[in-house]
Amino acid sequence: MPSNHIFTIMGKRVPWRYTSLRGSADGWAVIPDPKRPRIRERVLINERLAGKARLETEIHEFLHVAYPRHSEEHVTHAARDLAKLLHKLGYRLTEVS
Ligand SMILES: [Zn+2]
Repeated sequence: MPSNHIFTIMGKRVPWRYTSLRGSADGWAVIPDPKRPRIRERVLINERLAGKARLETEIHEFLHVAYPRHSEEHVTHAARDLAKLLHKLGYRLTEVS
């Protein structure tokens, strides 16, 4: 199983965790919400993902945290394109991290 991390995203320290997720979600970005001040910002990635699907989900959730006002459609489109580009250039996990 991949490790958990804390990454700096746009100047924020964000917990980044691999775990099982309910339902069919591949990932979650929990974004700060003034109505729910006790909920901490974090990213959760489905621990079962691998390969290009994992890469696309990691980019997707990163973009939600980096640009919380961008639409789901925009984030989905950008993540899909960047994952394809990086995969085509040969980027791969060499070990589980
Ligand atoms: Zn999304």
